[in-house]
Amino acid sequence: MIEERFDAIVIGAGMAGNAAAHTMAARGLKVLQLERGEYPGSKNVQGAILYADMLEKIIPNFREDAPLERHLIEQRFWMMSDRSHTGMQHRSDDFNEEKPNRYTIIRSQFDRWFSKQVQGQGAVVICETTVTELVRNSDGKVIGVRTDRDGDVIFADVVVLAEGVTGLLGTRAGLRATPKPDHVALAVKEMHFLPQETIEARFNLRGDEGVVIEAVGSISKGMTGMGFIYTNKESLSLGIGCLVSDFAEKGETPYGLLEAFKKHPSVAPLIAGSEVKEYAAHLIPEGGYKAIPDLFGDGWVVVGDAAQLNNAIHREGSNLAMTSGRLAGQAIFQVKSRRDPMTKANLALYKKMIDDSFVMKDLKKYKDMPGLLHTNSKNFFLTYPELVSKAMDNFLRVDGAPKIEKENASIRSFIKQRSLLGLFGDALKLARAWR
Ligand code: FAD
Repeated sequence: MIEERFDAIVIGAGMAGNAAAHTMAARGLKVLQLERGEYPGSKNVQGAILYADMLEKIIPNFREDAPLERHLIEQRFWMMSDRSHTGMQHRSDDFNEEKPNRYTIIRSQFDRWFSKQVQGQGAVVICETTVTELVRNSDGKVIGVRTDRDGDVIFADVVVLAEGVTGLLGTRAGLRATPKPDHVALAVKEMHFLPQETIEARFNLRGDEGVVIEAVGSISKGMTGMGFIYTNKESLSLGIGCLVSDFAEKGETPYGLLEAFKKHPSVAPLIAGSEVKEYAAHLIPEGGYKAIPDLFGDGWVVVGDAAQLNNAIHREGSNLAMTSGRLAGQAIFQVKSRRDPMTKANLALYKKMIDDSFVMKDLKKYKDMPGLLHTNSKNFFLTYPELVSKAMDNFLRVDGAPKIEKENASIRSFIKQRSLLGLFGDALKLARAWR
């Protein structure tokens, strides 16, 4: 039984929880962090790209011993039809810098390392403990938590909910609604192991250089979603995800999409001969700005995926999780330093800090994108990729037909499928939602 009283209790030892716990413990607050998994990271799933800047703001020298896989020098974006992909890619030797900006990581290893840094700052971290309830006083202020360990209440001035996308505790406590099926994606991921030299030869890499491939198109069968392939040192992380509402509506299965993605002629040669050692499924919050619940209240704040802070357009989540965790920790420290109570009015500082950061600015910028992509998924994820593929095939085939005829045929195929008004409308809607 834990009889002490804490300055803060953090629920969850993922990216957001670790960032919050580290920030507060490093400033001398008495922090208890509770994680239901066997060890931090045992339950967590990510592609996974780590964004260095956001971790550097918490642990400046993390590169010295963090378990990093490869630093990214190339991004490939594929628009796929059943038998082709049309790509855009950016590769730059400038990304081979002293302090690279993005790395691939394996979350089970990384979260364990991150948690050790949290413990190094003096936080008490207890795993295999599920928080079952937020405990409130008669005024409704959250004053502690109850766990599945012995049912006793552990008290704290403030509780940080970093429980991830499902957010069951927050929902049960009435702090947020259950995420809607069109606000969450279900993604499945496999780890394909290959010798290091094979990965480097197949992806044109040297040393610790890495590549990311992100793919949209017929692989999601007209649903809002995407596939990905990330290079680790001796493995490839490969996965695909779509909105839960789309799976329900179309009757497709995530596993079925993954199998088809792996068999695609552009993907199969990259994973040929690999040994699959891990399979995982996880939700991703994709509702964007409009799905964000209240972020603070009397005695509590919510951070990371539990707060729906995820930028699906740029496939960024862990960086928003780390940033919201850090800002929540800093806000709590400031309130505590002034000896003020952890009331809703005082914790509003966290909201102000997050509003001023890239997190809210980016999510606000794309506030209409999730709705637009969802309601037009067939066009954006199936019709256009097919049309682009056919146009490229036709354009590149040298068969004696004059180029002007080829161009006109491609234009006609776009108009036939979408009509002039439809094409113009799609472009306008996309441009508006992008701004
Ligand atoms: P989580 O990492 O989910 O951590 C929540 C923690 O809380 C877990 O450890 C859980 O066990 C614990 N917990 C939950 N309930 C309780 C409870 N009641 N009591 C105690 N503990 C509890 N983001 C990127 O930035 N880059 C990527 O490449 C990327 N790729 C992704 C690929 C996939 C397939 C998926 C699913 C996500 C990806 N993301 C990516 C998103 C990223 O993983 C999340 O945004 C990030 O993990 C959120 O961190 P978090 O701490 O909020 O939640």
